[in-house]
Amino acid sequence: DWILTGKEFVDKNDLSYPFEERGLQFGDGVYEVIRIYEGEYYLIDEHVERLYRSAAAIKIDVPFQKQELYAHLHELLNKNSVRNDATMYLQLTRGSAPRDHAFPLNTEANLYAYVKDFARDTDSLEEGASAITMEDIRWEWCYIKSLNLLPNVLAKQNAKELGAKEAILHKDGMVTEGSSSNIYLVREGKVYTHPATKRILGGCVRMKIEEFCKEADIPFIEEAFRMEDFEGADEVFMTSSTSEVQPLTKVDEVTIGKGRPGPVTRKLQAAYEKDAGITGTA
Ligand code: PMP
Repeated sequence: DWILTGKEFVDKNDLSYPFEERGLQFGDGVYEVIRIYEGEYYLIDEHVERLYRSAAAIKIDVPFQKQELYAHLHELLNKNSVRNDATMYLQLTRGSAPRDHAFPLNTEANLYAYVKDFARDTDSLEEGASAITMEDIRWEWCYIKSLNLLPNVLAKQNAKELGAKEAILHKDGMVTEGSSSNIYLVREGKVYTHPATKRILGGCVRMKIEEFCKEADIPFIEEAFRMEDFEGADEVFMTSSTSEVQPLTKVDEVTIGKGRPGPVTRKLQAAYEKDAGITGTA
């Protein structure tokens, strides 16, 4: 397995980072997870743009021009002969330097990227899944795809222990997003989701959902909804690069709609599959 590190490719077993790496010591960095279908990146432009936005927001200089980064990311797939469904993880940190909270001087950012096999969860996409809810205890700059994921890790673990696929987060009674996804509620044929403020990560799949809704004449309403709204919801679903358009048929003890994925969710799943060039469940 070849890993991209800086501008070089090294074998997975030969890659090491200094103990004083700011990603390790401070979570001082940002990342992306890009979906790969049959050896091709999906939504790579959206992810690359977000990476540069996240880096700029925390004042990290990406050590690549965009065109150069694209070339390296494509080379990563070639070198690893990726032909199947996979994900690419890319991490960018403020670099390696003697530990000090303030930014180090003359230190280049560390970048690495690797590819991992990742199969679509077709059963869950077909059947739907359940979610639990938890208070959103994260910081106020969730639009940055930061390496600081401890609240997200704890929320996802809690969901897992309760047999749920996702933890839906809420702040002051309003649903923000999932621990690693965006959350949507469907009512009377309209799709509601939290506006893309600093409180949530503007998902790359979320951008596509807005587009798919426009194309299908489904109102896409960027208005936060309340926890109580799950009771009267017709459908609930989540999106992310790894979970795609995932129906949620139960939230805590509330059965959503008829307890089966609904028609709006199915339509958006089909639009996603068409856009990604995959055949599937919807
Ligand atoms: N919100 C959070 C907190 C996430 O971690 C993710 C997954 N990256 C998303 C939303 C969905 O983003 P995307 O559609 O770009 O995968």
